Amino acid sequence: MSRATETPLMQQYREIKGRHQDAILFFRMGDFYEMFYDDAELASRVLGLTLTARNNGGAAEVPLAGVPVKAVSEYLRRLVQHGHKVAICEQVEDPALAKGIVRREVVETITPGAAFADDLLDRGRNNYLCAVRRSGAGERAMAGVAAADVSTGELRLFVVPAAELEPVLARLAPRELLVGRDAAAGSAPVPNVDGALLTEREGWEFDPALAREELTRHFAVHSLDGLGIGAADDVAVGAAGALLRYLRELQPAGVPHLARPTVEREGGVMALDEMTRRNLELVESLRGGTAGTLLDVVDRTMTPMGARMLRQWLLAPLTNKAAIDARLDAVAALAAEPIARARLRDALDGVRDIERLASKAAAGRATPRELGALGTSLARLPDVERAARAAGDAGALGRLLADWEGCADVSDEISRTLVDRPPIALGEEDAIRTGFDATLDELRSLRDGGRDAIAAIQNEERARTGIGSLKVGFNRVFGYYIEITNANRHLVPDDYQRRQTLTGAERYVTPALKEHEERVLGAAERMETRERELVDSLRRWVAARIGRLQCAARAVAELDTLASLAEVAEREGYTRPEISEEFDLEIVGGRHPVVERMMPRDKFIPNDVRLTEAERLIILTGPNMAGKSTILRQVGLIVLMAQTGMFVPASRARIGFADRVFTRVGASDNLVRGQSTFMVEMAETSAILHVATARSLVLLDEIGRGTSTYDGVAIAWAVSEHLHDTTRCRAIFATHYHELVQLADELVAVRNYNVGVREADGQVLFLHRLEPGGADRSYGIEVGRLAGLPDAVLARARTVLHLLEGEQLVPALAVTKGGARATRAPNGARQGAATEQLALFASAPDPLVSKLAAIDTDATTPLQALQLLAELRAEASSRRGAL
Ligand code: ADP
Repeated sequence: MSRATETPLMQQYREIKGRHQDAILFFRMGDFYEMFYDDAELASRVLGLTLTARNNGGAAEVPLAGVPVKAVSEYLRRLVQHGHKVAICEQVEDPALAKGIVRREVVETITPGAAFADDLLDRGRNNYLCAVRRSGAGERAMAGVAAADVSTGELRLFVVPAAELEPVLARLAPRELLVGRDAAAGSAPVPNVDGALLTEREGWEFDPALAREELTRHFAVHSLDGLGIGAADDVAVGAAGALLRYLRELQPAGVPHLARPTVEREGGVMALDEMTRRNLELVESLRGGTAGTLLDVVDRTMTPMGARMLRQWLLAPLTNKAAIDARLDAVAALAAEPIARARLRDALDGVRDIERLASKAAAGRATPRELGALGTSLARLPDVERAARAAGDAGALGRLLADWEGCADVSDEISRTLVDRPPIALGEEDAIRTGFDATLDELRSLRDGGRDAIAAIQNEERARTGIGSLKVGFNRVFGYYIEITNANRHLVPDDYQRRQTLTGAERYVTPALKEHEERVLGAAERMETRERELVDSLRRWVAARIGRLQCAARAVAELDTLASLAEVAEREGYTRPEISEEFDLEIVGGRHPVVERMMPRDKFIPNDVRLTEAERLIILTGPNMAGKSTILRQVGLIVLMAQTGMFVPASRARIGFADRVFTRVGASDNLVRGQSTFMVEMAETSAILHVATARSLVLLDEIGRGTSTYDGVAIAWAVSEHLHDTTRCRAIFATHYHELVQLADELVAVRNYNVGVREADGQVLFLHRLEPGGADRSYGIEVGRLAGLPDAVLARARTVLHLLEGEQLVPALAVTKGGARATRAPNGARQGAATEQLALFASAPDPLVSKLAAIDTDATTPLQALQLLAELRAEASSRRGAL
């Protein structure tokens, strides 16, 4: 079909769709949003809608699917959750007045990263849209991230070394990621973020110079210096420019009010990579969801703002002693004042999401009811403040209370303007308080007078006609009417005009009724217009104070978070950790905060762990199920909790803070996720070895298990050596390869520990207690028995094990004894030692040795001998190079 024969409507559709190619276009037609072509097919698949067809002027049929306007929010939610964008195209003129085809425009595009509606948001977490840009290369490569949450109005810029881009993104967990299509935005690929929609934009949109202009204009400042953004932040400024441009495209009516950006540069916050975040199950469990996570245990916040902040804190532990202590001081103060804390939590209980409500108001979207909720929430702030002050001004509390912003004027203005329980929509119920606006009051009395007059008509007409059942009623089509049952029809006076016939009755109007009706309806219409004006001006008034509202929201969030931490500390019996600048890490009576809650009180066995300069690498052996992973993770969690400013599950803890915490769990332990192959495991291990510093804490669980035993032990051995000799960090290596216990003979600062088991009557008993010394064997067969392997299989396995051990098919790692390694020269000698150990793994006779043995010295000329020597040497040195 040629375009020329297309109906004008389809021409209009095509023209609008052309400008919104990457979104599903919801094209308003009366009471429906219609979708055509591919959009219709996609939506019918995702939403289960029936696909129909529409004739488009010519012979061709156009696939079509529609959703009713009334039910649109549910369909939007589903599409957006599936990662689609939806452009809402409305009729922008009254169809009754339109000449020809109704004018239509896209008024908004909804994407996962730019969502306002409550059903698209999770109350306890931010909904970030992130733009990413890179600059420089090699060592000096930097990455900039701009993260906006339009539902709260937050705008955060991050400037980090390129290697830390992934942890920053992992922490923000954006729903949508903006990246440049070409090199202008930095050529290196952007890391994959689980569940984030990837939106490509033109590279030039990330240009920093352009972005500076854009930002200065948007925030109405002379230069970005005033916002604390310097030239060194260009990489993030470029990203922010692209982000603002994109948001403006999504919301042609105006970018929602974003707070002035804050810049976070490297330092002060620990970068947590994805595997560490996942393995320690900080905010999401390995199975997905929040059950069984640290967040789940420590979140006792009362407000959504507190819940979001606690989540942010957990994902960004601090690396600055003073900052950590400031939080700990505040938590300690709140923990010590149970009465003030209870009052504070009571006061917080009625505080709704000020941050999101204020943002909605500023974006012109808050309903009267939401504005009312903002007002009543703000009205509770004096109570919040009073209770907080009663807990004192230690640490973070002092800073928070010194800058306290109560926004009392805003709550006063809202309660002066709106009725106590404002309606969701304007029209039926009054939203504006009587006495607030004279015009409105006058219209209301007109309307009420009309209503009273109409009510009086019923009595008058009953008396006049003598019909006791006469009723005055109202419907939307005919307005006010007098209803008379058929039985009384003969009594109807002449001045009644018939309007509508029902089965058992007739409906009439009279001139007097019409006159009052006009007054009532006219007044109602003008009232609605007036109310709209007043509500809009209240929204604008609130919008002008958005900065202070965001400040108040942040203070509430922080108080809520601190109080929650104090509450948890008390309920769970946590203690205050001592944060130190030193290297040592000492945990006495440490527990796993999540695992301990899954068992009856006091059934969890606490353990002590010490890592010091002299004993910095622990090899943790023990059979499966003994509790190795639990100890490993509890050490990681306790350190992260302490650095977040939390009390910790231990009877005493001294934490020489870590710059990074790394955890890696071997492939087979992680198979649940179905994606961890040995390759991934090695890539992640190598990332740790490259990035970790002496101040890091490295926790490795069953590294090298995804391959054969020899390979596995060899890799585990070499990784441990590297951590010990080169990185020199604190590390725990949990393994069921009991061969590794021999490392302690080799390396000065390695200590063996095992998680105890006792054997009694051929049974293994798990003690879950950490003991010095290595495990002597793996107890794999005993664990197999517990798991119900048949007796015959177990007996055979024992026989094979004896054979294997007897014949030394698995050679013990004979290594240089007596601390020779400790004094060994670093380079040449080291390589020699490595060759020596690795040779021990070789099972076939060495070809070099065979060649040497095969030489018949009697039958070799001096020249041949020299040649042979050269060959042997070449072979030997090529092999050494490969090692
Ligand atoms: P491994 O890593 O050695 O295979 P896990 O750490 O996974 O063992 O622990 C296995 C189970 O033992 C845990 O799920 C938990 O139920 C229990 N457990 C571990 N540590 C303790 C402890 N300290 N106290 C009590 N039970 C524990």
